Amino acid sequence: MPAGVLESPGRLSIKQIPVWNIESYQDPDLVLVKVAACGVCGSDFRYFMGENPWSQHTLGRFIRNAPNIVLGHEYAGTVVAVQSEANRRLLGKRVAPVCSKVCGACSDCRSGRTRLCEKTIHMGHGQGWGERDYYPGAYAHYVPSWGASCFEIPDHISFEEAAMMDILAVCVHVADQGQIQAGRPVLLVGAGPAGNGIAQVALAMGASHVVLLDRSEKAIQVAKLQGLGEAIHTQHMSDEEIANKLSQVAPEGFGTVFDSVGTLESINLSINALGKSAILVMLAVHDVAIPLNFFRLGSERRIVTSCNFEVGDYPRALAWLTAGRLSVKEWLTPTTLPELPGLFDRITSDPDAKGVFKLVVKPWHS
Ligand SMILES: [Zn+2]
Ligand SMILES: [Zn+2]
Repeated sequence: MPAGVLESPGRLSIKQIPVWNIESYQDPDLVLVKVAACGVCGSDFRYFMGENPWSQHTLGRFIRNAPNIVLGHEYAGTVVAVQSEANRRLLGKRVAPVCSKVCGACSDCRSGRTRLCEKTIHMGHGQGWGERDYYPGAYAHYVPSWGASCFEIPDHISFEEAAMMDILAVCVHVADQGQIQAGRPVLLVGAGPAGNGIAQVALAMGASHVVLLDRSEKAIQVAKLQGLGEAIHTQHMSDEEIANKLSQVAPEGFGTVFDSVGTLESINLSINALGKSAILVMLAVHDVAIPLNFFRLGSERRIVTSCNFEVGDYPRALAWLTAGRLSVKEWLTPTTLPELPGLFDRITSDPDAKGVFKLVVKPWHS
């Protein structure tokens, strides 16, 4: 089958590789999914550039990526093969699988922090699979998945929308870290797919209104198209103009601020926007020291980070998507496997030139 293989940093190739033999992994829960749609995640671009976003965020350190990872972890499709009797019910079903599995035995897993399990294995990522010719991911016709966490999707949700379940579950978890307070406004510094999704979740959780900031015109267009709240294009605004605008729309500050940018500028802006006892959630943590005057955290202002999600966040996101409380249709630009290498080169060399909000690969289209 054709697959998008990250051979080494900067080299994504479409290659013919063997279909995954699910029996070779010594895990009877693994099923085979025919991929109908796979989202291109911001983290896929970071793998492409030689980073390891999972290890950097979850473990706080870099681990070198194995060669020949088939990227892609945000996917939906149809179950075409199973091993165990328990998974027989899934055959032929349209599913959005959770892309990762935790060990279940370490102290994090035993205390309910499975999202921090150091032995997590996942699709589109090289660690934990042992030595393999190709590491499984969903930029391919087929991908293995764990039957125990394959969630069936209702008929009115398309595969492309269902492929956004991974990022929506992340958004639910991130929003929980921000302890959305009913009736207080929420600020999104960075309105890409994560910021946009968190804004929607925050509204579903009872935020009074959301304000989204982004330097990209496309991100602002999408938020406006969705009628998501106040979406402000900041590319040509000074820091002072942005701060003035924010104090007009939220005179008492925001109850929660989500920063998906993670630069010195964005962190300064985010901290200044916090109301009393408000929480700043940092989604993007970079290896950089930033000076911080702790007086700015007076009145119980807090800064926290967020990692991954718990399996329990997945059905919560799916219920909101199913009920129409979350909408991702406006995000999506479809693409194909043969187009991917060129898109990766172009987008990583000039992120502003991409003009797309969220790519979704249809591996069976050419
Ligand atoms: Zn992702
Ligand atoms: Zn564990």
